[in-house]
Amino acid sequence: MSGFQSPRGLRDLLEPLASAHGWATDRAWAAADAAGYARIELPIAEESALFERAVGGTSDIVSKELYRLEPRGDDAITLALRPEATAGAVRAYIQHGMRSQPQPVRLATVAQLFRYDRPQKGRYRQFTQFDIEAIGDGGPGIDLEVIELGAAYLRELGLTDVQVHLNSVGCATCRPAYVETLRAHFTPAAQELSEVDQSRLATNPLRLLDSKEPAAVKRAASAPVITDHLCADCAAHHAAVTAGLATIGVTVLAAPRLVRGLDYYTRTAWEYLLPGEQGQQGALGGGGRYDGLVELLGGTPTPAIGFAIGIDRVVLALEARGLLPAVAGGPAIVVAGIEPDSVADRVAIAGQLRAAGASARADVSTRKIGKQLEGAVRDGALAVIIVEPDGRLTLRDLVKANQAEPAERGGVIAAALRLVQNEG
Ligand code: AMP
Repeated sequence: MSGFQSPRGLRDLLEPLASAHGWATDRAWAAADAAGYARIELPIAEESALFERAVGGTSDIVSKELYRLEPRGDDAITLALRPEATAGAVRAYIQHGMRSQPQPVRLATVAQLFRYDRPQKGRYRQFTQFDIEAIGDGGPGIDLEVIELGAAYLRELGLTDVQVHLNSVGCATCRPAYVETLRAHFTPAAQELSEVDQSRLATNPLRLLDSKEPAAVKRAASAPVITDHLCADCAAHHAAVTAGLATIGVTVLAAPRLVRGLDYYTRTAWEYLLPGEQGQQGALGGGGRYDGLVELLGGTPTPAIGFAIGIDRVVLALEARGLLPAVAGGPAIVVAGIEPDSVADRVAIAGQLRAAGASARADVSTRKIGKQLEGAVRDGALAVIIVEPDGRLTLRDLVKANQAEPAERGGVIAAALRLVQNEG
């Protein structure tokens, strides 16, 4: 076969998935609005140095998955398609002086992201995340707010069995010592580890807990857990979050080996998981505190927390459970016409009907009226308005299969609107 195909990992979304994607996105914005999170639209590309600094050069996202764009013209800067939204949100927080606003600054976005990863079900090179960030509050209360917001969003979409897997990944005070403990634990098994995991052992042993390679998974099972190595402040924070979550209507499971893929996380880290889904598909989203990121990007030290929920995974889960929302049907009213030269008139009347709140389309063909009526029935229309040669209109009720006498326009349009209101 010749011709173009969509690039690997970049999908077309057709119905019913396109509607489901839009619905989950609308619900995300609505959940954020209801909780007082300000909407923010961020550019789809940033300086690649932003991601290198924020996400960390050793992370997969930057070392392997970043789509860089060649500098153009006088612009000496290399841009990259965003692989996550947090770095851009923090960049915006600093750039627009949001520190002078009441803290925390609550921000929400729905963002298309790009990662050069091996495509498979639930993992694409372009995907969409619902992103929540609360910047400027270090207390455990905001952790509860953010964790609950994501869980409630998923529950209200119908994914009622969502679980929160919760951990603390410590801070700059306590994590380094734990990382060394972890390195010491994995070092005797270094020869059995894959090449990638051996380099993780050298550069970022925490990531070994995230590895899917059998040797690392086996060794990780007996690894020391970070919750036994937290400093007093991190332990107190974690205890407060754990206790607070007990009062929220969501299943919370302690996950002492949970680490998040990015380097910038501190303290609270969690994932939203659906039990019983295969592989990564049950991983709907995750979040964490990132108390050092604002400073790392050049701002004043400011604690922050956020989550990212994958809309594509949400849609897959809804599909697997038969919970996809209904796709909008065809138009309720079709405007047909006897004479070929009435097409413009039909389009105008359909526009009038839509302006009055009905769903309507014109039959823009020059085919015979019988064929036009067949087309309307096929579309599931409730009524047809026929433009007569003398300019009057005839209303045909497709549900009751009856037809009125031709009449003046205003009256017929009003009658059609009443009809679809009663029968729609
Ligand atoms: P992350 O930003 O990697 O922590 O991922 C957060 C959530 O985004 C995951 O739980 C997924 O739901 C979603 N996600 C991450 N990467 C992809 C991808 N390549 N394709 C589709 N969804 C993804």
